[in-house]
Amino acid sequence: MAERKVRHILGLSGGKDSTALAVLLHREIPEMEYFFCDTHKELPETYEYLDRIKARLGIEIHYLSDKRGFDHWLAIHDGLLPSPQMRWCTVKMKIKPLEDFVGDDQAVSYIGIRADENREGYISTKPNIKPVFPFKERGLVKADIIRLLEDSGIGLPDYYRWRSRSGCFFCFFQRKYEWVMLAQEHPDLFQKAVEYESNHADGRTYTWTDGESLLQLLERKDEIIAHHEKLMAKERKASPNRPLNEVLEEFLEQQDHELPCLVCHL
Ligand code: SF4
Repeated sequence: MAERKVRHILGLSGGKDSTALAVLLHREIPEMEYFFCDTHKELPETYEYLDRIKARLGIEIHYLSDKRGFDHWLAIHDGLLPSPQMRWCTVKMKIKPLEDFVGDDQAVSYIGIRADENREGYISTKPNIKPVFPFKERGLVKADIIRLLEDSGIGLPDYYRWRSRSGCFFCFFQRKYEWVMLAQEHPDLFQKAVEYESNHADGRTYTWTDGESLLQLLERKDEIIAHHEKLMAKERKASPNRPLNEVLEEFLEQQDHELPCLVCHL
């Protein structure tokens, strides 16, 4: 019997690192299968960025989804919103569709963790999916990633002006400043996130962020922006020649206290 071919897969999240990895490998590994786990709750900028990647690299992207969708799983969890402690969203809507896509095939999964970061996170643990980390193997750091993206003509996703990560518009890994900016950039999506907090028949309210609802958070908008700008000014003083979006991204990353998600935010 003919031996089954090993598949090569690369998950695009709509973020810069996985995109740079596609730039690096698309000629080296022409049989690469690119996929995007689509929760149907992503930012419009993410879909636009994926279109840009396809056009620039001339690749196909498989859009993988759980057919039942977020609202189904939310109902199964009795309206309890996902959180860093209860990451059912990642498992049901990102990892499971990927595992279904691979099935029982042997696959090498290329992951864009850089040599200058020490990230771990949610990842498929199926024994037939072998993760490899080309940036780490080749010692590529953030400056290399930015250069790869600039040279390819793809650049950074547009949401980097106000948010540092890809993923669902309501992702609970957002910082308070990013929620304020979501309200400004996409008021309709912010409103949907508000509805997820409060739309329960028995009047219960769950919150996406610790200690306050999104509407309470928005009432503190001026305070949150002022605090953010004060810290950013300090950061810019320390590196006056760097582009603003890089300073913003690095600054937001420094504020992370939770493990981000290797499937959602790479
Ligand atoms: S982006 Fe955030 S909300 Fe969406 S699946 Fe990932 S962890 Fe969950």
